[in-house]
Amino acid sequence: MNLFDADKKYIANTYARFPVQIVKGKGSLCYGADGKEYIDCGAGIAVNTFGFCDEEWIKAVTGQINSFQHTSNLYYTEPCVRLAEMLCEKTGMKKIFFSNSGAEANECAIKTARKYAEEKKGGKYFYIVTLKNSFHGRTITTLAATGQDVFHKDFLPLTEGFIYAAANDLDDVKKKISEYKVAAVMIETVQGEGGVNALDESFVKGLSEYLKEKDILLICDEVQTGNGRTGKLYGYMNYGIEPDIVSTAKGLGGGLPLGATMFNEKTENVLKAGMHGSTFGGNPISCAGALCILKRIDDNLLKEVNKKSEYIFNQLKNSEGIKSVTGKGLMLGVETVAPAGTVVKKCLEEGVMFLTAKNKVRLLPALNIPEALLEKAIKILKKVCKETAEETV
Ligand SMILES: *Cc1c(COP(=O)(O)O)cnc(C)c1O
Repeated sequence: MNLFDADKKYIANTYARFPVQIVKGKGSLCYGADGKEYIDCGAGIAVNTFGFCDEEWIKAVTGQINSFQHTSNLYYTEPCVRLAEMLCEKTGMKKIFFSNSGAEANECAIKTARKYAEEKKGGKYFYIVTLKNSFHGRTITTLAATGQDVFHKDFLPLTEGFIYAAANDLDDVKKKISEYKVAAVMIETVQGEGGVNALDESFVKGLSEYLKEKDILLICDEVQTGNGRTGKLYGYMNYGIEPDIVSTAKGLGGGLPLGATMFNEKTENVLKAGMHGSTFGGNPISCAGALCILKRIDDNLLKEVNKKSEYIFNQLKNSEGIKSVTGKGLMLGVETVAPAGTVVKKCLEEGVMFLTAKNKVRLLPALNIPEALLEKAIKILKKVCKETAEETV
């Protein structure tokens, strides 16, 4: 049976795949089984921070594989401790819990917020406010946190205790806080799956101040925005705020599964021995790879990210077939005249991989995508947006 048919027969139906089998990749280029070359502007959904098969990352990962691949969290391992140390030094956060995915990083954040509020204010303060149009994961609890009904409807009842406020509407958040006993507010500084929309600066700053006054925790879900993606190490750093809990995953491991939940001085000692855990969390191979990724997300790289971002904005704004460009850094959403899905399909045929988010074409290239490849990809995107727009009319 050919691979596409076997996939259809044996893999659960949860993914609508593009008709491409990837067999090899190097940097921001990858190759289909038919030998076709693609410029990758999705990076495995913001995961391959330095593209495919980055040499330094391979060295870090294989070095660790050759020592040992896993042990339980009952023993000390160097990569996981050093990675936690580096995360704390680079962010000012105080302690880290490692898991394997974004959803798990958020689960840990939610558990911690509930426990914090229970200790400080009593067990009734368990509500978490999230924003409409947010995305926080696929587990029953992180689905409940996700402020989009479409994701909820087939899986009820979800975990209770989540309420949704309108994004960029501080009064609405305050209203929810006055109506419910709230432990925390959780935000993505740039809503990814919701359509690549950066939150307003005044909203985020105002929210942060208000929550500090009320001793309600601010959780930043940096699963997609984290690790250099938005042009700062973490998305919240664009806003000059200091969240109490930060969750991240995707780009942290550079291609291997790794989630991290970071705690500040308020939250670092909330979880105690036996309260939370993960068999695979902080896997030494993933952490060795992540160390190599994180140490290279420095000011020079971030400057490059912002430069490329500016280039893309300049190229795409006022370009035919494009209505708007949103997002920050190399996490961008392009609102197209033709349906985003049509544009992405055409671009793939022309050898460039993009993603969608709601009604937008989403760009999440590797942070080190070479300028020449980026220019080529953007040229094709512009051409396809123009052509498909003409066909749409
Ligand atoms: C992808 C994503 C998640 C879920 O991460 P998984 O690793 O798929 O569990 C959670 N929050 C945000 C903002 C995301 O983009």
